[in-house]
Amino acid sequence: MAAPTQKGQLTASERKLLQVIEAGDVQEAAQMLTSDDVRVNCLDECGMTPLMHAAYKGKADMCGLLLQRGADVNCNQHEYGYTALMFAGLSGKTDITSMMLDAGAETDLVNSVGRTAAQMAAFVGQHDCVTVINNFFPRARVDYYTRPRGTEREPKLPPALAGPLHEIIMTTNLNPVKIVMLVRENPALVDVGALEKCYRVMDLLCEQCVKQPDSNEVLAMKMHYISCVLQKCLIFLQKRDDKLDALVKSLLRGRDSDGFPQYQEKFIRDCIRKFPYCESTLLQQLGNDPTAYSVLTQALTGQMAFVDADYCATCGERGADKRCSLCKSVTYCSLTCQQLHWFTHKKMCRAIQEQNAHLGSDAPRMKEPNDGERDLATETANFLQELCLRAEETVAAVGGCPAELLACPSAPSHKPSGSQQ
Ligand SMILES: [Zn+2]
Ligand SMILES: [Zn+2]
Repeated sequence: MAAPTQKGQLTASERKLLQVIEAGDVQEAAQMLTSDDVRVNCLDECGMTPLMHAAYKGKADMCGLLLQRGADVNCNQHEYGYTALMFAGLSGKTDITSMMLDAGAETDLVNSVGRTAAQMAAFVGQHDCVTVINNFFPRARVDYYTRPRGTEREPKLPPALAGPLHEIIMTTNLNPVKIVMLVRENPALVDVGALEKCYRVMDLLCEQCVKQPDSNEVLAMKMHYISCVLQKCLIFLQKRDDKLDALVKSLLRGRDSDGFPQYQEKFIRDCIRKFPYCESTLLQQLGNDPTAYSVLTQALTGQMAFVDADYCATCGERGADKRCSLCKSVTYCSLTCQQLHWFTHKKMCRAIQEQNAHLGSDAPRMKEPNDGERDLATETANFLQELCLRAEETVAAVGGCPAELLACPSAPSHKPSGSQQ
């Protein structure tokens, strides 16, 4: 990697490169980068590198080229301490954000007002980027367990399981049905011995996330949660050899009165309650208000998971565009998901159809919520309001509105105060 450069001392060719980056001409940039006159980590007057410019402008191909040519992903000579990852988050481009993370971008570096890349992305409403950053987990930390340590004869994790397990760790959809489906997709995981090894490794990773110098409670909770789902898979596999069908059905089965998946809610609540590091702020949020799933998702995405028509009713995947052809009120991401849900949805489907018919064909196609849903919606709204208030307090505490926080280097970093109860 090239030696650090002085701010603002750009050669004429380097100034030209910044223009080419802005225009997005990757071929021209590639050509220019072969010249001795162009340093890949040169700094403009604000201390921005070409990579930061490309990330901020949302040019993915250009970012790829610059990284390939040795751009320093963690350079932080910027006047307000911004990194390339922060610019990627601000741009709202998830592919560029992932690219920076894969290239080794540090997630806990802070800018001059003590904000991480995820916090900055959240402030400007780029929640998809927040999700990508908060869910990133280096593969090397899983691979660590595939080699025998100390006096071990065999590693804690067989190398063949590292890939499938890492894939589950990186999921941004925490719906338990989705995680069970990810397990089922990997035949190597549908095995009592394999699941036992995997959940033990997840527990170790959970402990690490809490005990590492920059303790990451949210990630620790995710590791713990995945461990709980894997343990549940293990119990069902021991009981019956049905490739986890019974577990999926239990998680989906709706309450007779309103279709609310009680078992799933209880399962997630139990997972959060069993979190071994009790200082968790997540536990305090889990009063009687929102669903446990929404608390968990909120922590990882920086926003509420709205019960929305866009989400698959089975696995929680976003962008679900297939509707139940009878009631036209429930959406799914795939035919598989619809088939999995039918055994319990069929109890509600007719009632919804009758309701729709009653409303008449001229009436707007809104589903009248039943009492249970209405309660849930009220609870969710209350919880959201409380969160907004809390966010406003945080902003007030560091003195300013979110926009100012992003721009001005004033207040020192405010760490959330520790738990002293
Ligand atoms: Zn689905
Ligand atoms: Zn239906």
